[in-house]
Amino acid sequence: MAKVIRTDVATPYSKCLKCGVGTRSHVLEPAQYDEYTEEVITEESDDFAKEQWEEVETITKYALSDSAVVMCHKCWLKSKEVMCETLDKFYDSWMKSPQKSLRRIMSFTSAVKYYNYERSFSPSESIKVAELRKAAKMVVKGEIGEEE
Ligand SMILES: [Zn+2]
Repeated sequence: MAKVIRTDVATPYSKCLKCGVGTRSHVLEPAQYDEYTEEVITEESDDFAKEQWEEVETITKYALSDSAVVMCHKCWLKSKEVMCETLDKFYDSWMKSPQKSLRRIMSFTSAVKYYNYERSFSPSESIKVAELRKAAKMVVKGEIGEEE
C-alpha cells in the first residue's frame, strides 16, 4: 500500500511532542496516509428490473497511517529560546574550531531545520546559522583540515 502525504487537507491534530497537548501549530513531520481504492456503486437497477445492473466507480480513499509529528506553539517558542541561547553561547568557540565541533554544529543546524526556526530568527542569528552551515560543509569536504 502506498504511503502518501496529503497537501490538500489540514494536518490532523496530534499530541505535542513535548507536553502532549493536542495541537497542529507546528508540523515537524507531516502525517502519512495509506492510499487505497474502493469501488462504490453509483447507480443500480431497482429490485424489480428484469436484468440487474450496477454502475461502479473506483474512488481513491485515504486512511491515516502515521500521525503527524507536531509541537504546540508554547513548547516551540520555549525550545527556540534554548536554541538561541545555545547559538549565543557556543557560536564563537564552534567557529574557532569547526572541525572539533562538527557533530554539535551539525546537530544544531539540523535541529534548526527540523523545527523550522530559521524564519523566526533575527537577521544576526540567521547569519550565524548560515556561517555555521558553511563551516560544517567545509569540514565535511575536507577544506578545513585537522588543527595543528
Ligand atoms: Zn507543547
